[in-house]
Amino acid sequence: MSQRPRAGYRLMHVHAHPDDESSKGAASTARYVAEGVDVHVVTCTGGERGSILNPKMERPDILANITEVRRQEMERARDILGVTQDWLGFVDSGWPDGDPKPPLPEGCFALVPVEEAAERLVRLIREFRPHVVTTYDERGGYPHPDHIACHQVSVAAFEAAGDPDAFPDAGEPWQPAKLYYHHSFNRPRMEALHEAMLAHGLDSPWGERLKEWKPEPEWDARITTRVPCSDYFGVRDQALLAHATQIDPDGHWFAIPREVQADVWPTEDFELVVSHVDSPTPEDDLFAGIPAPQ
Ligand SMILES: [Zn+2]
Repeated sequence: MSQRPRAGYRLMHVHAHPDDESSKGAASTARYVAEGVDVHVVTCTGGERGSILNPKMERPDILANITEVRRQEMERARDILGVTQDWLGFVDSGWPDGDPKPPLPEGCFALVPVEEAAERLVRLIREFRPHVVTTYDERGGYPHPDHIACHQVSVAAFEAAGDPDAFPDAGEPWQPAKLYYHHSFNRPRMEALHEAMLAHGLDSPWGERLKEWKPEPEWDARITTRVPCSDYFGVRDQALLAHATQIDPDGHWFAIPREVQADVWPTEDFELVVSHVDSPTPEDDLFAGIPAPQ
């Protein structure tokens, strides 16, 4: 059907916690789903150690059942985005607060050997058989230990999934064509949004943050791929709001009007890291160069 030009393509996002799928790449996810792509999210941990970041949800009944509450939030978010999802089954490492940082809690995801976690992910890759896999860059996008572990495990699994000698008990080999890192939280974008807010005579939520964030042009130059997805910013916001314990509806996520965002930065941005197909960069599509599935 011409309305679903991407039927047959499969995209897998590997994320650290429930809510990451809605805060990173969610608008392009919604766009690809609308175009017929099957999108599968793998969530490495249950988010058991996430703090409650929305003052309205800071209630004893929610704190006592945080794991279950976050599962329900995730169910809502995946319905809104139109994705399927698996839990990789590891336990949130938590944000190590303090100076010096405290040791990571026993048994948490960031302490699991990469091989062990990669085998589980390889199994899911071989079952779902994605054409494209996304994960975080080597800094984790932000330096949460679970985000860095997510990067390491995803890269290892992307390489191993197509290798018949690797994890032979984890299914039939399948080599995804492309691996991407998320880069949407980049400084030029934040700066452009900040400037646009000031130009509209509005308060920018990013002034302080920008003062502390030194420009890193070489890092930003790693972006290869900008996917237009502003028609889906509303879906992205609804998915974020589904994670009610993690997202303050009055917070910085929603401070910038969607029309301003669509005007100033209508894309989500990625870095193509590995490609087994011919796909010259820059590009505007995660599936560029991948032949239409039969
Ligand atoms: Zn996270």
